[in-house]
Amino acid sequence: MRDTVLFLDTTLRDGEQTPGVSFHLNDKVEFARALEALGVDMIEAGFAGASPGDFEAVRAVARTVKTGVCSLARCVEGDIRAAADALREAARPRIHVFIATSPLHRAAKLNMNREQVLDAAVRGVRLARSLCADVEFSCEDATRTEPDFLYQVCRAAVEAGATTINIPDTVGYATVGEYGELIASICREVAGERDIVISTHCHNDLGLAAATTLEAIRRGARQVECTINGLGERAGNASLDEIVMGLRTRRDIYGLRDNLNIRELYRLSRLAANLSGMEIPPNKAVVGANAFVHQSGIHQHGVLRERATYEIMKPEELGIPQGGVVLGKLSGRHALREHAQELGFELTEHELDRAFEKFKELADRKKDITERDVMAICREQMHGSHGMYRIHSFQIFSGNRMTATATVSLQRGADIITRADCGDGPVEACFHAVDQITGFKCKLESYQLRAVTEGEDALGEVTVRVSNEGVTMLGKGVSTDIIEASCLAYLNAANRIIEARQERERTHQQETGV
Ligand code: MN
Repeated sequence: MRDTVLFLDTTLRDGEQTPGVSFHLNDKVEFARALEALGVDMIEAGFAGASPGDFEAVRAVARTVKTGVCSLARCVEGDIRAAADALREAARPRIHVFIATSPLHRAAKLNMNREQVLDAAVRGVRLARSLCADVEFSCEDATRTEPDFLYQVCRAAVEAGATTINIPDTVGYATVGEYGELIASICREVAGERDIVISTHCHNDLGLAAATTLEAIRRGARQVECTINGLGERAGNASLDEIVMGLRTRRDIYGLRDNLNIRELYRLSRLAANLSGMEIPPNKAVVGANAFVHQSGIHQHGVLRERATYEIMKPEELGIPQGGVVLGKLSGRHALREHAQELGFELTEHELDRAFEKFKELADRKKDITERDVMAICREQMHGSHGMYRIHSFQIFSGNRMTATATVSLQRGADIITRADCGDGPVEACFHAVDQITGFKCKLESYQLRAVTEGEDALGEVTVRVSNEGVTMLGKGVSTDIIEASCLAYLNAANRIIEARQERERTHQQETGV
């Protein structure tokens, strides 16, 4: 049996099914590049047949990376052909076809009997195989399917040309032991002596996704489907970092290899949180903010003497910044660039200029600049648009028994425009004043505030999701002042909305020749 576990990352497909999350095309391409640097074996880039936007995204990712790229497809001709078309320029394309096999899904969703499902699966895999040499087949809701029928469908899919058979625990229903047993029986009954990869796809409805996945690997699965930060439908998918660190930390149990470059783990986690606007809880395993923080005196003492007393993984090996002071007031542009590069940010000259400006501003307010601060600044700049509007100044008037008012001045070219407005609280008042200036009435869909570092002068990082006439954008702002960070984030999103509208008008003009 193979001794390497293959990782299929589905953040761009199942992860995008997280409630409230949608990635923009450029974000998907950027994320796919980062996944390639992480070394995942296969990127599920989307569901090409679902919409023109998904099709474009799969195509753009397929063009960009050299690693494997797949598109999901129902066992329907249109879906499968769309997947093949979108993957045309991929270096290593794969079509991933699926059909639901459980009695509940057959009756309630598909309105098909066993024979019809079997027939559709075989025809789907055959068509996919005629268009692409690498075909994966999934039985949706496999864990609630009658075992004999599951084996029958999987065997037929292998006969029809599938080389990877995926057994999804679509609704996170299986117990750990039960899922391991199922995977072992699939390895025996379906793969047998043939070189077929059995794959897992676990959901976290009962908090077991990583556990079921790891048990399945122990019982013979050699591909895992997972997402960064466990993003995904409902309670999410199995989280990639937990699986790979489980495998590596307990190599004595699993004895398997993987192709991942785990130094990229933390960066991917931050990138996923940024692009999705879904922050991870501090107590999340492996990449959570508290994962390597020792609170109790006894623990601290132990760790200082010998880290292995309370640490089973080395945070620096996962690319987690160690919180040390890296830059100070007198550090130059060159030092900032070097640190940014070490942290994995390739800034353009323009981005570096803006990051440096921000850094200088911050160094005036905050004594020590840590790696986490540098990361936050770089992220903000990379997320930034060239932006029609910039903040010049703001003033707020707020208290507990009064309506908050804000006066905001924005710079647009050489002009400074000032407007005042009120709102429920100072942040909303600022947002309304910004709307007055831009002329766009934006709707705030979500707002998150996170402290980048500990301590009194910690940086606050605000992430907002803002929509206007069907366009939704994330905005990000970083400052030691949370009102300023909020204002920057909102303006960042508003600028991106304005850019998107201008872009749309430009293409419209080109198309219509107006
Ligand atoms: Mn799923």
